[in-house]
Formats: sequence, C-alpha cells, structure tokens
Amino acid sequence: MHFCKQTSARLTVDLAAIRRNHAWLAECVRGAECAAVVKADAYGLGVREIASSLADRVQTFFVAQPEEGCQLRRLLPDKRIFVLHGFLTGQPETMVEHGLIPVLNSLEQVRQWRAFCHGEGRDHPAALQFDTGMSRFGVSKDDLRAEVLRGLKPVLVMSHLACADQPDDPANREQLQRFLAMSAVFPDVPRSLAASSGIFLGADYHFEMVRPGIALYGIPPHGESCPLVPAIGLEAQILQVRTVEAGGSIGYGLTYRAERPRRVATVGIGYADGIFRSFARDGALWWGDRRLPVLGRISMDSLSIDVTELPDEVAREGVWLTLIGPQQDIATMAECVGTIGYEVLTSLGYRFDRFYNGSCR
Ligand SMILES: *Cc1c(COP(=O)(O)O)cnc(C)c1O
Repeated sequence: MHFCKQTSARLTVDLAAIRRNHAWLAECVRGAECAAVVKADAYGLGVREIASSLADRVQTFFVAQPEEGCQLRRLLPDKRIFVLHGFLTGQPETMVEHGLIPVLNSLEQVRQWRAFCHGEGRDHPAALQFDTGMSRFGVSKDDLRAEVLRGLKPVLVMSHLACADQPDDPANREQLQRFLAMSAVFPDVPRSLAASSGIFLGADYHFEMVRPGIALYGIPPHGESCPLVPAIGLEAQILQVRTVEAGGSIGYGLTYRAERPRRVATVGIGYADGIFRSFARDGALWWGDRRLPVLGRISMDSLSIDVTELPDEVAREGVWLTLIGPQQDIATMAECVGTIGYEVLTSLGYRFDRFYNGSCR
C-alpha cells in the first residue's frame, strides 16, 4: 500500500468482496433481478468505485435523490437508474435529460409526471410506489381508484418493508399481502418489495426484482451468519505514546483518571472521521486480537487508548490499529454506540485515505 494523503486513518473497501456478495444475493433470488442501491454515495463508501465495480453484473441501480442520479448517470451511461424520491417539485425534465426513472410517490407526483409527459407528447418511464404500511412514500390503497392512475403504465411497482430486519414480525406478512393486492391493479408490471433484509424473508418476497444496499458490504441483516463477506475495514495510526502516572487524567473534561500508571496511545481518528463520541463508553481498537479500550472522551481528530498491555515495539508511533475488522465488525461497532450499521457507514468522514482493492483513490 502506498499513502496518498498522509492521513492517520484509512478506510479499505474490498470491491471483490462486494462483487461476491452481489453474486451470492443474486443466486439467492434466482429468477428475480438483483439491483443495487447506491444512494448516499453508496452508503458513504464511494459510489464511483462501487457502482463501477458492479457495472458488469448489475443492470439496475437505485439512488435516493435526483442529484445522485445525475452523478451516477455520468458514470454509467447505459444502466437503468431509478430515483427513489422521484423528481423534485416542478422539475420532471431533469429525469428525462439525464435518462433517470423517477419513483412516483404520490398522486400529485403522478399528476405532474403525466402532465409533463403529455406536454412532451410521449411517455417516459416511471416507477410507482405503494404505501403498504410505512406511511412514508407511495400511493395508498384508496389512491388506487384515482382517475389520474387510469392508463398509467409504470415500468416497476414497488414498496418497502418496515420490519424486515425482524423476520418474525407479523407486519412483514401484512405488508406482503397488501403489496400483492395493490400490484394486482397493474398486471404484468414487474414488482419489487425486498431490500437487503427482505431478501432473507424468502422467495415470497423476491418478486421480479430485489433492491439490496447494505448487504453488498457483507453486513448480515439479522445479525445471523451467512455467506456474505465483510468488505469494509477501518484503521488508524498511533500518533504518540506516553505514560500517564497514577492520578493523571486524559482528554477533554479529564473524565478518565488513571488509578495505576498507564501507557496511553493517542490515535489519529476522531469524531470528525465518524467515530461517535458515545464510542468512548465501551469502545476499543484492536491490534490483532488484543483489545485496546478507549480512555476518556473522543476528540475531533484523535482518541486515546490503553496500550499498557502491548509490547513496546507495537505501542509506538506509526503503528496501525483496527477499528473495523475481523475482531470488531460494523454491527458490533454500531451496537456499541447505540445505532445501526447504516449510520456508522454513512457517518464515516471524508478526509482519510480510502483504498479500493489496495489502491488509493
Ligand atoms: C435504502 C433503500 C433500499 C436498500 O436498503 P438496504 O437495507 O440497505 O438493503 C431499498 N429500497 C428502498 C426504498 C430504500 O430506501
């Protein structure tokens, strides 16, 4: 590895692992198309690299916002790109200019879209979302009687599951039943219900297309083991090592007080890099299988850890330690700070080096 930015933290993204995960998901849903959701800069991991590496096996991508769609279009001239939030009010033409497919989420959006297509004298592809219980996006069951839907020919009908991460929740079946009933109003239109965790609910939920995002990175949806491989690593470098005598304190607020002498390393990663301040409570870095607890508060650019138990030749400036890796996966990290893997990933900062298959972006 060479170091292009001279930063004290680095994110590694294993594109081969992401490709393998996609292949495995596609195999799971055989018969259905396996799209890829790469909204929010591919969950903060770099849409350019990730979408490009999937381009030979994925025909359909999803993003959330029109601007994300425009960016992705420049990268992938020939792929189908759905925009989950649809077009912004008054700007349906952006979709057509960039070859994007809006997901229409309300009757009002359908009305605007149809008026726009009418003005253009031709139909443009659009997807239609059903609200099957989340009360977030999509037309309701009652909306389906509206005049404006008459004769609409969406290229996809879709909905989203609220509780798919809890396989036993009865809401999954209820949403499935509603989705079946609502999609019957548009016979022969391809259907999509499952995101990552929905895929694991079984074939009933796969329909003609699935939309995994987080599973691509090897994060199993229900915490159970499965053949998905972890694709993300995060490491940071020791900047300083010092001895804190008994009675000495560490960090902002001097919240940690050493009862015995401690060897303490200052590591070059902090909350500006996406390490939550709440990580101070139970968090740790790792050297191999050695756990090195965080001491005191997390600073913006650094944090302190206990390296008393490490050999001197390891506890020294320049040594790299692991935050996300085999000993501590994203789910563990998320649990430690009281959140979910999605938030950990999308909170990761932008100033450190990012390595894709070993080479720096
Ligand atoms: C984000 C999102 C997905 C992907 O979700 P994952 O849980 O990351 O697989 C799929 N569909 C919709 C509508 C989404 O908003």
